Amino acid sequence: MTDNRTRPEYDLTCQDCGKAHILDTSLPSEIWNQIAKPEDVLCALCIDARLVKTGLTCDVAEFYFSGQALKSRLYGGASNFEAALRQRAEAAEERAGLFEDLADGRQALMADIAAERDALLALAAADAAGKRRET
Ligand SMILES: [Zn+2]
Repeated sequence: MTDNRTRPEYDLTCQDCGKAHILDTSLPSEIWNQIAKPEDVLCALCIDARLVKTGLTCDVAEFYFSGQALKSRLYGGASNFEAALRQRAEAAEERAGLFEDLADGRQALMADIAAERDALLALAAADAAGKRRET
């Protein structure tokens, strides 16, 4: 019990191997959802094993730990946590910008197509009028 003990306020065990879950591991939902259910509790080793089994990799995992003297950077203070959140928000904003660019491009393309159609309709109308005159 002493060599593998969960912090008292964080008494969780890994559902795969049954060992204490002492290192909180965060990975993107799109990867997590391919190896586990949202409510699953898995230690870092078992997450790694599931990734290997599924043929996936993840190089952006974040680890959280807070002992009496040892703390991971993201548990180090609110400013670190806020920095991580800000980073995620900036990434989301960048993606939103890409979607806007895509929407603008689509709008320009639709305008081009509409102009082309109008030009063709005008040509067809002129052609029809010419033929009416010829007969
Ligand atoms: Zn485990």
